[in-house]
Amino acid sequence: MRAMVYRGPYKIRVEEKDIPKIEHPNDAIIRVTTGAICGSDLHLYHGMMPDTRVGTTFGHEFAGVVHQVGSSVQNLIPGDRVMVPFNVYCGSCWFCARGLYSNCHNVNPNATAVGGIYGYSHTCGGYDGGQAEFVRVPFADVGPSRIPDWMDEEDAVLLTDALPTGYFGAQLGDIVEGDTVVVFGAGPVGLFAAKSAWLMGAGRVIVVDHLDYRLEKARSFAHAETFNFAEYDDIVVHLKKQTDYLGADVVIDAVGAEADGNFLQHVTATKFKLQGGSPVALNWAIDSVRKGGTVSVVGAYGPIFSAVKFGDALNKGLTLRMNQCPVKRQWPRLFEHIRNGYLKPNELVTHRIPLEHIAEGYHMFSAKLDNIIKPLIISATA
Ligand SMILES: [Zn+2]
Ligand SMILES: [Zn+2]
Repeated sequence: MRAMVYRGPYKIRVEEKDIPKIEHPNDAIIRVTTGAICGSDLHLYHGMMPDTRVGTTFGHEFAGVVHQVGSSVQNLIPGDRVMVPFNVYCGSCWFCARGLYSNCHNVNPNATAVGGIYGYSHTCGGYDGGQAEFVRVPFADVGPSRIPDWMDEEDAVLLTDALPTGYFGAQLGDIVEGDTVVVFGAGPVGLFAAKSAWLMGAGRVIVVDHLDYRLEKARSFAHAETFNFAEYDDIVVHLKKQTDYLGADVVIDAVGAEADGNFLQHVTATKFKLQGGSPVALNWAIDSVRKGGTVSVVGAYGPIFSAVKFGDALNKGLTLRMNQCPVKRQWPRLFEHIRNGYLKPNELVTHRIPLEHIAEGYHMFSAKLDNIIKPLIISATA
């Protein structure tokens, strides 16, 4: 089969690989028809995620057709169209039993630090991902769901991470009616978080980024007020002015470990790897939320420490909430919102790139060329 293969930082190739095999009776092999590149894949691409091994295939957002099932799989048969949450999880451990699917204890030798994620380095379990023609899906009766007949496949792919993660970010904010919600990051997750904040009763939604084309999308797609942080000496002071000098009720970090906006943080994180990421957006969140407010973090950070303003969070009495999204927990409500027309996820898709050209896709996405927001990957066999 053809598959995206990591060859080192900034080096992606499409190579011939063996079709994955059933390794356990509850595995399924999925023929991927539509996948995506996620903003968090760029952390891998940039060499930011520990133990990202040469030869592995990325991709944790995909939908496809069941090709083969192991002998104990009961819920799927070959030919089913399925969507697969980015979390690999067992469905039965202490954590899964409590809906903490992203914190499953059985799918990663590093499970005390992080759960299992498709195509997201050996730090996250070493599973090959779906930027390929085929992918092995463990615990096939647990994660994947049949795509409902009424649902677009592109919407289904956006339901494997970006939309549920954005929605989860808003949920973690415990938004109450009338709240002012600030979202840092106007990528797909931030845009979905902003849109979701309205659905949860926000009275005001503000999106902050430095890419004007994405802020334009935040206005048209999420009906948010927008600020380009590059236009202000101090975005925190500006946000305070916007909120009666109290600060926002809820701030969502939808940026994660490679935030721009602070040279020292950028150099110590991405250049010298002295910390696990540059938490600029997170520190802005801590500074711009009001005392007693809530900071919700859904931007991706690895297990390595980062220089976060913890003392300020303590002294302001903040509630900090965060997790990798337990995707499938979000599906029932999100399916309803899509079916009722409140959300149309594929409005954020800007590029549809054939798998053979995925290296170009990574480059464009990394360099933010051609007003890219969300690139999908189209399999040659689709
Ligand atoms: Zn993702
Ligand atoms: Zn589990």
